[in-house]
Amino acid sequence: MVKIRKSPPVYCRLMKRILASLAVIAAVTSTHAQQAPATPAPDPIRTLVSRLDLDRYKATIKGLTQFGDRRQGTKRNRDAVDWIEAQLKSYGCAGVERITYQFTTPPPRTGNNPPAARPDPNAIPTAQGGGRPRGTRTRTGVNTDPLKQPDEKLRALNSEPAADGERQEVYCTKVGSTHPEETYIVAAHMDGHGWGEAANDDGSGTALVMEIARIMSMPDVVTDRSIRFALWNNEETGLNGSRAYADQRGPLQGKEDPPGSGRYPEPKWLGMIQHDMMMFDHGMPRADGTISPEQRPEADVNIEFQMTAKLADGAKALAWALHAANEKYATDYPANIGSRMTNTDSTSFMDLVPSVSLRENERGAQIGNGWDPHWHQPTDVFATFTDNDFKLGLNAAQTTLGGVAQLTNARIK
Ligand SMILES: [Zn+2]
Repeated sequence: MVKIRKSPPVYCRLMKRILASLAVIAAVTSTHAQQAPATPAPDPIRTLVSRLDLDRYKATIKGLTQFGDRRQGTKRNRDAVDWIEAQLKSYGCAGVERITYQFTTPPPRTGNNPPAARPDPNAIPTAQGGGRPRGTRTRTGVNTDPLKQPDEKLRALNSEPAADGERQEVYCTKVGSTHPEETYIVAAHMDGHGWGEAANDDGSGTALVMEIARIMSMPDVVTDRSIRFALWNNEETGLNGSRAYADQRGPLQGKEDPPGSGRYPEPKWLGMIQHDMMMFDHGMPRADGTISPEQRPEADVNIEFQMTAKLADGAKALAWALHAANEKYATDYPANIGSRMTNTDSTSFMDLVPSVSLRENERGAQIGNGWDPHWHQPTDVFATFTDNDFKLGLNAAQTTLGGVAQLTNARIK
């Protein structure tokens, strides 16, 4: 009787303990499930960046080279503008439009030269834009001799000289879903010279902008703010195309037209990102003036702002945002920041909006010192470049696409 009466309470206590333990285990398990989900949500910006593709980037550069050096004021330049416009339309980029301006070659400087200044004993050697040139320097310049182009077909294609007159350039827009009244400008120049194919200068930057426009125009992509894609003309004559845009469109910024329509033909500029010569980083000329035939393994994307610009602080912040995007999204090459942005279309904007440029090298102290032997030469043709060169341009595209996607809060529907 005692045994029979005692047994059930012992059994019950044991069962209670087991059930309590199971409850604790269940609680712990469910807490773990909340802390560490099995699959984290994919980063939509990484997905967008992965839509960039080396073969497509190369194909777009190749497409641009069919118009030779695309020198401003020629039919081959106008044909290239038509082709770029047709591509942007085929990508579904919104509001493909042109601006028109006049270009007249400035008269050559005449008159007496002022008397030579006395040499300044404190002078520091200074490159264009303010950097200090160091190491081996080789000659740079623009080739104007057709006979230096050995490809006779290309020589013929490039033979029409520039004529003064009307010019056009094309742009299109990814319209922001919640802030269509604000925009980043992502740009490159489409004209070139030198009797080559302007494959690197600036087919590489133009193709980069076109590829980003293609991806951001895909129907499943949404951004809060707008992104304007612009392909300037007349960069090589002195930034005339980008200046025309800044002069004509700057005063229209942020105006809704027609009122109440929700349309902003020129959204307020938040930042300007220029791309110019994106592929060739083979290092400094050697002591004998030759250049390595290989992309150097430590090649990088050079993001430059100009420290003398009115909006240098904002430009620095924009440069670091792109640097961070490079760390996160670029697959092969890092980015470095410099303070000597010069001789490119972002100069037209740098006192109006925070502006930066991306390049294969620093423009002043490196390209200006002869680091790119194909610059403005007949050898700036598609066939000159290897996949490691094209890949540097693609990494710059990954950098800008990732950065602008973050700045505009891009996502996939
Ligand atoms: Zn250029």
